[in-house]
Amino acid sequence: MERCETCRKWYGEPRQPKVGDMVNFTVQSGSGNRQRISSRTGKLMLIKDDGYSVIYRKTVYHADHVSHPADPNPLTLAFGGMCECIEGPIHE
Ligand SMILES: [Zn+2]
Repeated sequence: MERCETCRKWYGEPRQPKVGDMVNFTVQSGSGNRQRISSRTGKLMLIKDDGYSVIYRKTVYHADHVSHPADPNPLTLAFGGMCECIEGPIHE
């Protein structure tokens, strides 16, 4: 993705990580209303039909989404929002 020079938010298509790349992913821990989501950087092991396997500190995690380290992670996008200066099919 690219950063907008006007608002400094992100726009465009995410980069597609390949197996063996370092990727950002989120880990959900806890349950009920004590859930918290944290962001990790690990190595992409496997791309599956329903998500990704990422190894982080010798533990393999399942991730529904991964992002290239040069791209904003989902938390950044969730809190910061996407650029709305540019018209385009950003959301399907
Ligand atoms: Zn913008």
